[in-house]
Amino acid sequence: MRRQMDLSEVSDGKKYHRGDMAKLGCGDCEGCSACCHDMESVILDPWDVYMLTTGLACMAGDLLEKYIELGIEDGLIVLKLKMDGPDHACGFLNEAGRCRIHAVRPGICRLFPLGRVYDEAGTFSYFLQTHECMKEKRTKIKIEKWLDIPQIAKYEAYICRWHRFTAEFQERFQELTEEEQKRENIKILQLFFLMPYEKADFYKQFEERMRML
Ligand code: SF4
Ligand code: SF4
Repeated sequence: MRRQMDLSEVSDGKKYHRGDMAKLGCGDCEGCSACCHDMESVILDPWDVYMLTTGLACMAGDLLEKYIELGIEDGLIVLKLKMDGPDHACGFLNEAGRCRIHAVRPGICRLFPLGRVYDEAGTFSYFLQTHECMKEKRTKIKIEKWLDIPQIAKYEAYICRWHRFTAEFQERFQELTEEEQKRENIKILQLFFLMPYEKADFYKQFEERMRML
């Protein structure tokens, strides 16, 4: 989700890169699952859907029945984690308050309590949200270790590309009729989220879909 915010109010005021150390270590979240509840903005990108569907051997349509839902952000169709039940919790949370899909969890779950701040050129830095994680006495850890994402440089380049693509699309949407917006959204949903991914290099498949669009 794109938000305008004053970084000095929500963070320690610093910008970080993947090789930097930041106070993220939270003792493996022992006894806490706060950030798996009431999170309305865990928006999934194509890499997340690739990880979930290839890792859990299912289709995006199967996930839509229980774990994820569709929404609209500034005119653009989005997929996000569904927060459900009396606890308003993510469906991937088990009874012990642990993530059942830790190895294939979405990028935003990996990131928390970091956020991303984008510059004019569409590249980003990380920032540390200081009022989000409940754990006190957090330890310093290297950001790339915290994210635990293979081929991190490729991943970051892809995140920038996807961000630019969605931002441009949202801008262009303002000139389209409702009917045209609907048609474009269906195309994006189909091409980047519903069309099954092979359990092979994600980035090649993503680029191929970009070309198709
Ligand atoms: S996918 Fe896992 S880490 Fe992310 S909100 Fe759900 S339970 Fe929490
Ligand atoms: S609030 Fe902090 S300790 Fe609690 S689950 Fe989230 S990251 Fe872990």
